[in-house]
Amino acid sequence: MLPQLLLRKNVVVKKWMTERPKFVVDGMLGKLARWLRILGYDVKYYRSMDDDYLIEIAEKENRILLTRDNALYRKSIAKNVDAIFLEEGSRIKNLAKLSKALGIALEVDTTISRCPKCNSRIEPVAKNAVKGKVPEKTFRRFKEFWICPNCGQIYWRGSHWRNIYGVLNEVKKSVSQ
Ligand SMILES: [Zn+2]
Repeated sequence: MLPQLLLRKNVVVKKWMTERPKFVVDGMLGKLARWLRILGYDVKYYRSMDDDYLIEIAEKENRILLTRDNALYRKSIAKNVDAIFLEEGSRIKNLAKLSKALGIALEVDTTISRCPKCNSRIEPVAKNAVKGKVPEKTFRRFKEFWICPNCGQIYWRGSHWRNIYGVLNEVKKSVSQ
């Protein structure tokens, strides 16, 4: 790697360690976008958008560009836009890399979680309000529910929740290695 890219990397780390980073991710990183939203990060994701537009969003909205596209990464850095190149790999590897580089929190805090589908902050919703909107079994079994005020999706700590913790534990292990 070129020395100036290394230097640039350090600048990114210093700056973003002190404020909660926001992201814009390229079309190949949709899954990662959903994970970061669950962890409470503001992530814009476009399935298909040209490079210049992604760089423009990052620049205008003070977002870090996450990309799997080396050419896009280099173009961003050349324009002084903060970007992180993520190689093809598992979400565990990618989340570990982001955690190391930016201090990404590896805990789910529902007071800041965002809807993985649309990026809006989810809100607690009274159990009564979700009756008939979630499966009957789910309604009986769980006390706490959240709703996305934008897309209406309802969330609860179901089996997917254990899966989330399982993955985050793997990421923590990877970070400490
Ligand atoms: Zn939503």
